[in-house]
Amino acid sequence: MKIVMLGAPGAGKGTQAKKIAAKYNIPHVSTGDIFRANIKGGTELGKEAKSYMDAGKLVPDELTVRILLDRVSEEDCRNGYVLDGFPRTIPQAEVLDKELTKAGEKIDYAINVEVPDENIVDRMSGRRGCPKCGASYHIKYIPPKKEGVCDACGTELVLRDDDKPETVKNRLKVYHEQTQPLIDYYTKQGALKEVDGTVDPEDVFKAITDILG
Ligand code: AMP
Repeated sequence: MKIVMLGAPGAGKGTQAKKIAAKYNIPHVSTGDIFRANIKGGTELGKEAKSYMDAGKLVPDELTVRILLDRVSEEDCRNGYVLDGFPRTIPQAEVLDKELTKAGEKIDYAINVEVPDENIVDRMSGRRGCPKCGASYHIKYIPPKKEGVCDACGTELVLRDDDKPETVKNRLKVYHEQTQPLIDYYTKQGALKEVDGTVDPEDVFKAITDILG
């Protein structure tokens, strides 16, 4: 099963993608996570990606597509995957489709997690992530058991640089201009499914599993 998660930054795509990956036993592939791992590791790719990410801009398609195609060609992706944060532009979706078509495959579901703009800044400023194990939380909606500390590994949680309010506004603008058109793109393919992202994360997941079966 090949799944694409769509939705504004902060809509909860990552949280849902992780749950889908666990339930359906497919890898969770997040281009943002790959970039962050490279930044942490001090690689050339990380250095290049960081300047765009810190400004709330998209990393150029060519670079992003290359790392995504490398990742999905790995053995563990053979039976499918859930893509989180990719594609973010029509050209990215087209390259992915071209590669899939060559292999006689396609995206089965594009799940759009819908959250209105007015909720996004609030949601993103409350996000916290574990810099060690990658677990994600929200101070209001998905709080850790102990404030500020990762449930899974005990590490102190952080607010991502690009979740700061000034960057969030830019990311939202970029989302509307470049990523939202993908909703039409996948609607035309017959792959689009919409879920309400404003409800409790467990209920969002229930709606998703009703779709995926
Ligand atoms: P995310 O963790 O998905 O919110 O991504 C964080 C940041 O990484 C984005 O704001 C972009 O700067 C960059 N990024 C992640 N995925 C992509 C993509 N598919 N295309 C371009 N830039 C991306």
